[in-house]
Amino acid sequence: MERNGAPPVLTVERRDAGDRVVALAGNPNVGKSTVFNALTGLRQHTGNWAGKTVQNAAGYARHNGRGYVLVDLPGCYSLLARSAEEAAARDFLCFGEAEAAVVVCDAACLERNLILALQTAELVPRTVLCVNLLDEAKRRGIAVDLAALSGETGLTAVGTSARKKRGLSELMEAVGRVLDGPAPMPVLPEYPKEVEESVARLLPLIGRHAPEFPAPRWLALRLIDGDAAFREALAERFGEALLTEAESVLFGQNRASLSDGIVAAAVRRAEEIAGRCVQTKGADPAQRDRRIDRVLTGRFTAFPFMLLLLLAVFWLTLVGANYPSAWLSAGFAALGEQLSAWLRPALPGWAASLLLDGAYKTLSSVVAVMLPPMAIFFPLFTLLEDLGYLPRVAFNLDRCFRRCAACGKQALTMMMGFGCNAAGVVGCRIIDSPRERLIAILTNNFVPCNGRFPTLVTLISLFFVAGGGFGGSLASAAILTLFIALGAALTLLASKLLSVTLLKGVPSSFTLELPPYRRPEIVKVLVRAMLDRTVFVLGRAASFALPAGMAIWCLANFRVGGVSVLQRCADFFDPFARLMGLDGMILLAFILGLPANEIVLPVMLMGYLATGSLAELGDLAGLSAVLSANGWTAVTALCTALFSLCHWPCSTTLMTVKKETGSFGWTAVAALLPTLAGVLLCMGVRGVSTLLGLP
Ligand code: GDP
Repeated sequence: MERNGAPPVLTVERRDAGDRVVALAGNPNVGKSTVFNALTGLRQHTGNWAGKTVQNAAGYARHNGRGYVLVDLPGCYSLLARSAEEAAARDFLCFGEAEAAVVVCDAACLERNLILALQTAELVPRTVLCVNLLDEAKRRGIAVDLAALSGETGLTAVGTSARKKRGLSELMEAVGRVLDGPAPMPVLPEYPKEVEESVARLLPLIGRHAPEFPAPRWLALRLIDGDAAFREALAERFGEALLTEAESVLFGQNRASLSDGIVAAAVRRAEEIAGRCVQTKGADPAQRDRRIDRVLTGRFTAFPFMLLLLLAVFWLTLVGANYPSAWLSAGFAALGEQLSAWLRPALPGWAASLLLDGAYKTLSSVVAVMLPPMAIFFPLFTLLEDLGYLPRVAFNLDRCFRRCAACGKQALTMMMGFGCNAAGVVGCRIIDSPRERLIAILTNNFVPCNGRFPTLVTLISLFFVAGGGFGGSLASAAILTLFIALGAALTLLASKLLSVTLLKGVPSSFTLELPPYRRPEIVKVLVRAMLDRTVFVLGRAASFALPAGMAIWCLANFRVGGVSVLQRCADFFDPFARLMGLDGMILLAFILGLPANEIVLPVMLMGYLATGSLAELGDLAGLSAVLSANGWTAVTALCTALFSLCHWPCSTTLMTVKKETGSFGWTAVAALLPTLAGVLLCMGVRGVSTLLGLP
């Protein structure tokens, strides 16, 4: 069932008939995915900001000999479906196969979390409360009386510190008990008299039209306050008559006031419970965060701090990458000699050359060049994410995005694009307005993903910084910061352009939650960043570069009229590429790099190497020699870097855009927009450099 862009209800696959299905619900950023990952051994994305999980995800856990299918629902504040996440969570709890639910709550703000917990228990009485982040709450002087909480809610409350894997076994025990025993009798909100009267009049209707539905009272409440899309879903399942009869029962009632009464009762009940179960010692625990926020999100300090931080991160990346890069290339050179000693006597000359001079040399140099900056940048980025800085960036950029008639949450999807544009495009689901979501999708490619970022780093290191030392590295970092700032500026510009042409409209309002600052777990962050991003990108680079390398070797060796096919293709593109400050081989590499941006640099190098001007590849110096031998100047490097920042998205991202927008037309716009920007920028640079008489 796909409604209003909401993802379809997940179909759950049991491994065994006896497996039980348990939904994991919770407000955003309460550690739900951390609990899910710890229980299932999976690696759902975690991070200190709201809105990471936009789709339901399922995983498998075993406890006491029984299998559990755990479904990680998107984080949401209520089940009243004001957003796509709330609709996805509600639809699964309502129409999915959940036999029980675990509502993960943040011990430090229990009151707000209890609203969702109460709504969930109303729909799925077999609900367990998982009061997570107990360690953090303790640090902030907040104590939760779990026994009192169980008593007040009528549900089992288990305390956990998911990050330290504490309390999880007890949690599964409680889930097992709640599934085996009689259904709990949760103490639910008492609604105003007129709501209760309407519910009483609706219940017989529900009994007639939806006799199987396990939570008739909940259904009655949603018939009163539910949104149009949900009512449509109910009509689809239980027949139109349920709705028309419900409408006549509710005729003449002030629906808005009934809805307000329902919400207010839940808020009051949550307040009551929290008042009895939570104790806070000392000063307001959020005070420290507010002091920090005064600087990090302050009117005059936010942007300078953001740029300085970016500069520092890039500086660390560039300086730190030099040493391992040199060690890696020395290691690869030694290994290459060994391989050569084994392979050359054993294979025909052409095959050995294909493997050693083509595939191995290019791959190893790319690994030596790409791995170190990625292995430094991504952990740093993940540390900032865990610390809770990303939503602050979104907050700071909100005004800029709103001026472009786009949504401030786009800053978050933009940052997701830093990892992978396809993920960024899926992440756009956190934006509720379809117009603004589309703008975010179409402009996501202006931030360089994993695959393009190392290319930028490499080109800057090679061409733009004359001297080494502190000054040189700082200059490199400043240039990289400028490139990223250019990407952000182009995102804003393109958003503005779209919002005054194809996607006219006014920006909608939204609430962005600033999470508490949390101390990141350094070791886990390192491992996660290495595994999730670095190894993934390298794996992709290697798996695409190898077959692409072979294919290009063949193209380079298959000759027509004495000229290789590869050279002919490059020659074909050359005149146009020259107008953009590139050459035919560079443009060809971008075209052949459509499957994955990671392979653009390898393809380019293989192209150059296969067409004659072979130099000894190794570290950055070797790379520089190959490029210079092929006529590269600083202008070529600048144009290549600009085109790397702005050109069509990779095929995976394009397919994702098609899936998310359901339209070939919008997919074409997603490809054309950055490409056009890139072509114009490059031509501009070429034009100016020609005027200035630069080579
Ligand atoms: P979700 O949005 O609810 O899925 O939240 P995540 O699982 O992504 O967690 C949000 C942040 O809280 C991450 O930085 C986690 O590392 C952190 N976190 C999760 N559980 C705990 C916990 O028990 N203690 C502490 N100190 N941090 C936690």
